[in-house]
Amino acid sequence: MAYFDLHLNLNEDDKAIREAAHKFAKEVMRPMGMELDRMAAEDVVAAHSPIWEFLRQAYELGYHKGAFPTEVGGLGLTPLQSHILMEELFWGSAGLGAVLLLAAWPYVKILHTMNMELIEEFVVPFCQCTDASMTGSWAITEPDHGSDTLNVGADCWSDPKIKMQLSARQDGDEWVLNGQKSAWVSCGPTATHSMVNVHIDTSKGLAGGGVCMLPLSLPGISRGKALEKLGSRDLPQGEIYFDNVKIPKRWMFVGPEEYGDWVINNLGFGNTSVGVVALGIARAAFEETLAYAKERVQGGKPLIEHHSVQVRIHRMFAKVEAIRAMTRAVWEVNARAYPPLSEYALAVKTYCTETAKDVVDEGVQIHGANGLTKEYFIEKLWRDIRPMTIADGENSVLNALGGRILRDTFPRTSVNLIA
Ligand SMILES: Cc1cc2nc3c(=O)[nH]c(=O)nc-3n(C[C@H](O)[C@H](O)[C@H](O)COP(=O)(O)OP(=O)(O)OC[C@H]3O[C@@H](n4cnc5c(N)ncnc54)[C@H](O)[C@@H]3O)c2cc1C
Repeated sequence: MAYFDLHLNLNEDDKAIREAAHKFAKEVMRPMGMELDRMAAEDVVAAHSPIWEFLRQAYELGYHKGAFPTEVGGLGLTPLQSHILMEELFWGSAGLGAVLLLAAWPYVKILHTMNMELIEEFVVPFCQCTDASMTGSWAITEPDHGSDTLNVGADCWSDPKIKMQLSARQDGDEWVLNGQKSAWVSCGPTATHSMVNVHIDTSKGLAGGGVCMLPLSLPGISRGKALEKLGSRDLPQGEIYFDNVKIPKRWMFVGPEEYGDWVINNLGFGNTSVGVVALGIARAAFEETLAYAKERVQGGKPLIEHHSVQVRIHRMFAKVEAIRAMTRAVWEVNARAYPPLSEYALAVKTYCTETAKDVVDEGVQIHGANGLTKEYFIEKLWRDIRPMTIADGENSVLNALGGRILRDTFPRTSVNLIA
């Protein structure tokens, strides 16, 4: 049975989406995520990996194009419906949910350009794809530049001494890319396409960046080994190298003039999504822990019959509901706003990932030593929530950026809704 929804006016379509997504998350994603978690990183991206079967099934269901409008071939879900869908998928497996989110990410950003040529070239085929033969990724982080790449408006942002490790130079009708992205690029080892941040105008420091879209099959592109890591092991990550890679001019869809705004707007959407990842993990931790507390007997009765455990379980529940309410409110506005309300998105990402980390940690504590063993799902959830305070921007760097946005824009007086 699906988790109760305080939104009492869900219509039949909303409920059907939730039931179907919950079934897929429970029956397909949860077991596959657990299987992938125990595999070596190289096996997770190998031809025999269950990850491909997951993608095929998700694409067949159309989950990769849930948020895309019907005009370009998407499912045209309402913002509420896409929040419901993503919550369920992240509940099943945060890593596999992220694989699907990343698969769609560059195409969402191309859609936002309103450039019909690029939409026809990339977004329409992506929405038509039913066999997962077209999947995306986003490559911004570099070995020497993590927070630097997101630190818009900080002192270092316009320092010409700081240079990205991936540069793009114009050569006639083409751009030529040289350099590399870090091992943290989600789906770097598996994606067919990537949205890539590059350095164009080095005299402006990091502010002189650009963003392009490209297939990862181009000559001169190679990839590193899949990364071995603590958590999110069902989300493959790895380096991408560029050696004189040539792309047509039109694929560079953001230039230095609008680069800083683009980075902030991109966080406005991405950070909201990471909040929903945190929601899925926190809800799973709460449900696992309550079930465990009903089974485990200490002091002659189940843990849940002890007053102090009741208090702790209820605090976990309160935090899950707070994360749910906050992510949903911001998701519903930012799905329709351009530019998105980034100060809210940054608040969602930082607050909800920290709060979810507390929820999962308490879940481990209530499991006692069992919470530290691979026999119990809470152990995976603990490893999966940990990276979320760093993914899509380390939280204190995001809070500082949020503070600068508030310094310049508070109080906000309007929002520009596009749909
Ligand atoms: C699960 C996961 C998924 C990811 N997916 C992607 C992806 O799809 N694509 C991609 O490109 N990248 C991805 N990343 C990388 C991610 O964006 C970076 O890890 C993040 O931006 C932080 O960079 P860093 O790890 O290099 O840390 P650093 O930037 O080295 O930061 C280390 C510490 O120093 C502090 N710090 C840094 N700069 C400053 C400063 N100027 N002032 C004060 N303190 C500072 C930070 O607060 C932090 O605590 C992912 C990471 C994770 C964990």
